[in-house]
Amino acid sequence: MGGKRLILMGPPGGGKGTQAKRLQERYGIVQLSTGDMLRAAVKAGSPLGLQAKAVMDAGKLVSDEIIVGLIAERIQQSDCAKGFILDGFPRTVPQAEALDRLLKEKELKLDKVVEVAVPDERLMERITGRFTCAKCGEGYHDTFKQPKKPGVCDVCGSTEFTRRADDSAATVGARLKAYHDQTAPLMPYYKAQGLLEVINGDRDIDVVSKDLERVLGT
Ligand code: ADP
Ligand code: ADP
Ligand code: ZN
Repeated sequence: MGGKRLILMGPPGGGKGTQAKRLQERYGIVQLSTGDMLRAAVKAGSPLGLQAKAVMDAGKLVSDEIIVGLIAERIQQSDCAKGFILDGFPRTVPQAEALDRLLKEKELKLDKVVEVAVPDERLMERITGRFTCAKCGEGYHDTFKQPKKPGVCDVCGSTEFTRRADDSAATVGARLKAYHDQTAPLMPYYKAQGLLEVINGDRDIDVVSKDLERVLGT
């Protein structure tokens, strides 16, 4: 593979988590999802979780300070030494600038930034049909990725699934607005650094995976 420190960018429901999990398996590098970190904090009822929950439920972005703090701590950990796939971070230009500083301190570089592009009109059904195995975190969809055996997780056999509180039709508009206003400016930011690859995420999951492997050079 061409790179070990990757960013997966794309709109909410665009398939970042699905693809990041596959890359994690394939390349043995960890997926770092700020959304998962925040949901863990909410579940644990920590002060950070309590603060973040209202913002997430409104479909807005949590403050750069909180998010950069989470990532700064996480990338110190030993399992990140071989590399990582950032999923859902950075989401603002200040977050991207903070990441550049964090990596520079460690004399590390990003290898590639991949935008998984999906048109807005697809995202409502992607988001409202999403559910996840409560035990292992495998992602599913009511229409596009059902468990092989109904009600049983393909990966771990669990029969318990969860849906995210923010995956309601009501939040989709706010989340898309945040994406276009605050996250889309990152594409020119990374393009200027020569790191950006854009792939079409509006295709079957396996087809997108193949394309992702292609741009990552395998
Ligand atoms: P993100 O992490 O970008 O928010 P997910 O990977 O959770 O997105 O995908 C959102 C939903 O769409 C999930 O239910 C997932 O199973 C489904 N999904 C992911 N990729 C595709 C695809 N290429 N085609 C159809 N559905 C997809
Ligand atoms: P999605 O799968 O829809 O892309 P995530 O799981 O990545 O969503 O994030 C869920 C929510 O967590 C976001 O709507 C936002 O409130 C918060 N969040 C996650 N990552 C970030 C980030 N990098 N900056 C600010 N807020 C974030
Ligand atoms: Zn499972």
